[in-house]
Amino acid sequence: MNDLEKTFGLDKLPPPVDRDARTLTDGGPVVDDHRELKPNGQQKGYVVLSQAERAKGFVRPVRHSYIHEKCGTLTRMGQALAETYARDPEFYSGTFCCRCQGHFPVGPEGEFTWDGTNEKVGS
Ligand SMILES: [Zn+2]
Repeated sequence: MNDLEKTFGLDKLPPPVDRDARTLTDGGPVVDDHRELKPNGQQKGYVVLSQAERAKGFVRPVRHSYIHEKCGTLTRMGQALAETYARDPEFYSGTFCCRCQGHFPVGPEGEFTWDGTNEKVGS
C-alpha cells in the first residue's frame, strides 16, 4: 500500500487523470495564442484541466500559493490552476513568479515550493 492508498483508501482513489480534458482558466476552449505574454510577463491564458475532470477528485491538497526559491517571493494562483495541481501534480512543467515576471521550472528539481511546506510544486 503506498501513501496515496493509505490516505484515500484503496477503493476511494480518484480515477486516472485525462490530460486531454483541457480548457483555459475561464472555462473556454484552448486557443492557439494563449501562450502570448502580457506586459507583466504572464500568459494571455493558462491551460487547466476542465471543471468536470477536476471534479473527479484530488490526489494532493488544493493549495493557492508557492514560493520561488530563487527570490523568496510568494505568488498566488486562482482556483482552477490550484485544483489542476491537486488533481494532477505533474500537469505543468513550469509556473510564474510575480516578482521575476517570468516562468520557471517546477517538479522535483524545480525552483518552487508550496507556501508553508518543504514540498516541491509539481511533485
Ligand atoms: Zn522569483
